[in-house]
Amino acid sequence: MRTDPTASWAEQVRQLGLRATPGRVASLRYLHDHPHSTAAQVHSGISAELPTVSMQSVHNVVNDLSARGLLRRIDLPGSGAARFETNREDNHHHIQCVVCGRLEDVECVVGHAPCLTPADGHGMHTVLSAEVMFRAICTDCAATENTRSTTHTQEKNHD
Ligand SMILES: [Zn+2]
Ligand SMILES: [Zn+2]
Repeated sequence: MRTDPTASWAEQVRQLGLRATPGRVASLRYLHDHPHSTAAQVHSGISAELPTVSMQSVHNVVNDLSARGLLRRIDLPGSGAARFETNREDNHHHIQCVVCGRLEDVECVVGHAPCLTPADGHGMHTVLSAEVMFRAICTDCAATENTRSTTHTQEKNHD
């Protein structure tokens, strides 16, 4: 069942057949404003408004809502904590700086899913989507790296 993206968060939670608890609604609102947050960031972000909501219940909320498609879970290579964002169903991708970990959205490469087709179908009937993670070095880190490598060039050349 598709939820109506124009409905309020509480309404969208109810359309999934779940109770629109304050924890669920606050987590969705927070992730809409702060995409790519971890469960811990959601917890600290909503704790002023909902001081009684535990870290464990935020974990349950983000996992439940991801499983039901209202949130999108992003597992980053080399990062312990999954990030979450509200699911815009636009098949957008992510680009991450390998130095500082900054994560940004990238438009879908093609404009619709799946934007890549595997060379070998491996016996799958239908390819639904492809998630691309671009690994990059951001402008800030590239600038820092430049300063560092020019100061260290002398020593490195002696290897
Ligand atoms: Zn960086
Ligand atoms: Zn994103």
